[in-house]
Amino acid sequence: MQLSQKYSAISPSPTLTIDAKFKSMKAEGIDVVGFGAGEPDFDTPAHIKAAAIEAIENGVTKYTPASGTLELKKAICDKLLRENGLSYKPSEIVVSNGAKHSLTNVFGAILNPGDEVIIPAPFWVSYPEMVKLADGVPCTLETKEENDFKFTAEELEAAITPKTKALVLNSPSNPTGMVYTRAELEKIAEVILKHDMFVVSDEIYEHLIYEGERLSIASLSEEMKERTIIVNGLSKTFAMTGWRIGYTASPEPIAKLMSSVQSHATSNPNSIAQAASVAALNGGIDFVCEMKAEYKKRRDFMVARINSIPGLSCRKPCGAFYVMMNMKALIGKKCGDEVIDSAAKFAELFLDKALVAVVPGEGFMADGYVRWSYATNMENIKKGLDRLETFVKTLS
Ligand code: PMP
Ligand code: GLU
Repeated sequence: MQLSQKYSAISPSPTLTIDAKFKSMKAEGIDVVGFGAGEPDFDTPAHIKAAAIEAIENGVTKYTPASGTLELKKAICDKLLRENGLSYKPSEIVVSNGAKHSLTNVFGAILNPGDEVIIPAPFWVSYPEMVKLADGVPCTLETKEENDFKFTAEELEAAITPKTKALVLNSPSNPTGMVYTRAELEKIAEVILKHDMFVVSDEIYEHLIYEGERLSIASLSEEMKERTIIVNGLSKTFAMTGWRIGYTASPEPIAKLMSSVQSHATSNPNSIAQAASVAALNGGIDFVCEMKAEYKKRRDFMVARINSIPGLSCRKPCGAFYVMMNMKALIGKKCGDEVIDSAAKFAELFLDKALVAVVPGEGFMADGYVRWSYATNMENIKKGLDRLETFVKTLS
């Protein structure tokens, strides 16, 4: 019997595939070092865990409203006002099972069959697949390394067609770590307003900016706020990847559609994780600042080491916790009998021969690059880069 053509056209997440391979090698006792999935290596802060335990003990173990508790929506509104200067009502917030789920809801709510979504590349692996799941058409807007992997307002405008419905904006970006400046966002906003389209603004790395300003495009003007759907979550800011809480802030008609679908598809996100998220959002960002200082040290070390190895290079990313390593000069080299003809081949051999897991660029639409996540401790980073240096020396 023929299964769904739509689902059959979706490829599995390469980041999660690499991570699963790394974890299974580790479970077998192999001395492998992982730089695959971007997942904070820090533990969830104690006060957040305590709030979850308290929630369990107090019987916060029942269904909540499908789009999230009023308490959590209010905490999200407070956060948006305090940190982003944005005023939202609880009815404009939808809480979901992680930002991934929020993004899936968003594309479902705004797209009709054939609508195009502009996705600047290199992009996070899941965006195009999510657009396809919503019957939309992902359209890549290529950026260049020499422009810090950023697109300009002019390039955006040239990519717009009569079918364009939305732009995906992810600043700081996964995988490049680049951060758009206020001036750049202002120009992009002008194009968005001129062409009356949406911006899906994925702000999940907003607190991990080492150089630059934290700024939501929605905060540039009331008109831009009307055109923006903010996607965010607790995973990266509070080291809460497993708790699965994400949210959107959008005009109310969009929030209504997403809530309605969510009420059939998943019902509420976990009640205990929601209670813990209230404690996280209301508990200050000291923890995030400590985590950020550590990430910055790791970034500086990783960037310097990669750039010291002949044949390899990388830009210094201003945010998130990823480095895109340019390995184009290694294409054509041999590892034993095998030729490195792509980033995918490099990553495969690097894992098999040197026991280091990195994500090849192909899934990010970045041939010739490999993504390293530095959300792992310094000891692992040193070990991984030592292995990189040795591995590259063995190539002929
Ligand atoms: N957006 C980006 C850019 C990400 O890197 C991630 C990480 N997986 C997500 C969204 C989704 O995060 P989560 O579902 O854990 O909230
Ligand atoms: N966002 C992280 C990454 O890109 C986690 C894995 C995923 O959800 O794709 O590695």
